[in-house]
Amino acid sequence: MNSLFAGLPTTVFETMSRLAREHAAVNLGQGFPDDPGPEDVRRKAAEAVVEGWNQYPPMMGVPELRHAVAAHYRDWQGLDLDPEAEVMVTSGATEALAGALFALIEPGDEVVLFQPLYDAYLPLVLRAGGVPRLVRLVPPEWRLTEEALERAFTPRTRLVLLNNPHNPTGRVFTREELELLARFCTRSGAVLVSDEVWEHVIFDGLTHHSALDLPGLRERAVKIGSAGKIFGMTGWKVGFVCAAPELMRTLSKAHQFLTFTTPPALQYAVAYGLAKERDWFVSMRAGLQRSRDRLVDGLSARGFPVLPSSGTYFLNVDLAPLDPAARDEAFCLDLVRRHGVAAIPVSAFYAQEPVESVVRFCFAKTDATLDRALGRLEKAT
Ligand code: PMP
Ligand code: GLN
Repeated sequence: MNSLFAGLPTTVFETMSRLAREHAAVNLGQGFPDDPGPEDVRRKAAEAVVEGWNQYPPMMGVPELRHAVAAHYRDWQGLDLDPEAEVMVTSGATEALAGALFALIEPGDEVVLFQPLYDAYLPLVLRAGGVPRLVRLVPPEWRLTEEALERAFTPRTRLVLLNNPHNPTGRVFTREELELLARFCTRSGAVLVSDEVWEHVIFDGLTHHSALDLPGLRERAVKIGSAGKIFGMTGWKVGFVCAAPELMRTLSKAHQFLTFTTPPALQYAVAYGLAKERDWFVSMRAGLQRSRDRLVDGLSARGFPVLPSSGTYFLNVDLAPLDPAARDEAFCLDLVRRHGVAAIPVSAFYAQEPVESVVRFCFAKTDATLDRALGRLEKAT
């Protein structure tokens, strides 16, 4: 079979999780928590299944969830969204990303992307016929700069795909960086597709700024969220897309032919979850921040140079100060085979000119899991 997708490798997450199983390793690679998620939200889903919410729900999502999404973003991000015209439920953020690219670009349109990039982005852009224009972010700051944007934007720029907070770097972009990007988008007439799945997983008192709240972007941004990340149940695949009515009409056409609907019981449970008390979200963040600090302290004590992480489930270690010749992929293979700990080489998130000295660890784990991994890392530096 000769096609773009036939030639793609298996994702690094799947590969590392398989190696972790083969070597009975502690899996700090693929990003998922090792607890089952909030019991009340899980119970709601089970109840909804038993009550019989098992047939096709409305294509745009159950009204309860669309209203809950609008109310949640009003309370948390000050957004004013019309649940009937500006909110759509998708089967995970992944569907929303695919749908946005399929719906909004035509073959030959240029798409600005930021490396390191989430693994699904590039194949989807290419399959949609987009021409990628890659902006390279470099450690330790991973900053968006005017010079880099100047080089990436051209008169053919049609769409920009940003992930904020950013996987794998753990960066939460500043308001200034986002406003800079917004100026480039409005100037070129590009749509900003903003993957905000990590919006609730931010630390150190930082604030998440949604693309829909940036100057000039209310009508030309597509905000993508994920219940899987908000509730730490990554298998749940319930996503939400928010955009102005005209954009939403186009986006809904992709959704109706990609998945059409999303399991209704999960939608009711997520609607319930989004309405939880503020305290629940605050303590979820605090718990993950404690886990981040535990892994930062443990890795630092073992001599690993840890880069700052302000959001997501991830932190990064830069191997360069330990050994300028170190390569992330070889390091990760050695780590999983000889030390029994799985991590992700960050070079896998680059399409060209990879940074090859950085390794990503997931800290969304119980203390016992983190301590087990740290115990095994004792002799790995
Ligand atoms: N975008 C980013 C940046 C992610 O990190 C992830 C999952 N880790 C997704 C999208 C996928 O989200 P979902 O599981 O809701 O499809
Ligand atoms: N988003 C998760 C991560 O970055 C993995 C998702 C996947 O396995 N595709 O680890």
